[in-house]
Amino acid sequence: MPKLSRQRRDGRKTDASSNADGVQVLSQPALRPDRETAPKKSKRRPAPEDGAALQALVRKMLVQLGENPDREGLLRTPHRVAASLEFLTAGYQTDPTTVLNQALFHECYDEMVIVKDIDFYSLCEHHLLPFYGKCHVAYIPDGSVVGLSKIPRIVDIYARRLQVQERMTTQIARTLMEVLKPAGVAVVTEARHLCMMMRGIQKQNTVVTNSALLGIFHEDRACREEFMQLIGHRQMG
Ligand SMILES: [Zn+2]
Repeated sequence: MPKLSRQRRDGRKTDASSNADGVQVLSQPALRPDRETAPKKSKRRPAPEDGAALQALVRKMLVQLGENPDREGLLRTPHRVAASLEFLTAGYQTDPTTVLNQALFHECYDEMVIVKDIDFYSLCEHHLLPFYGKCHVAYIPDGSVVGLSKIPRIVDIYARRLQVQERMTTQIARTLMEVLKPAGVAVVTEARHLCMMMRGIQKQNTVVTNSALLGIFHEDRACREEFMQLIGHRQMG
């Protein structure tokens, strides 16, 4: 479950959690807000009868892998894989801007709002293998707040697509920035990539960290550091 904490900007309360032990953290500099990563409109999926087309492709793939798709254990595999892939990429079907707009409230609250430890599961677009981890989101409202359950929902919408972690992180931040128009948004993702763990360099314990810092989180070092401290992250530049 994501943990929520609201933090006074004078930093009186601290609620920093410790990072996972023994993980190597690869930091990346803050993404600039002008980067070309604006969220795209969701695409419509092909007609439902194409589920059969996807199943046929999975069956062909099994043959190409040297398997017999007619043996008992694999008989329903094309059906299961097609259904599973449709679920794991369901984020294309939902427009995150619409989801946020349905839960916006006007509120004179200008302290940092943090939702941390949001679990996410995504598929890397290079290998179609999972990457998964935690996402931490903060924003400082400037007139509008959003229903808190919507923030994990936005993370899911972007995670359930073919992704690279950097783009997913930035899309979450930019969508919140564009719809809420807050003073700033900060998003940090920490993920393990099965394409690194199961194949290739086989770095089993590497955690890749990305951040997107917009508005005041980009401009104000103290604000950024307060966020990093609250999510229990080591300081980044
Ligand atoms: Zn990959």
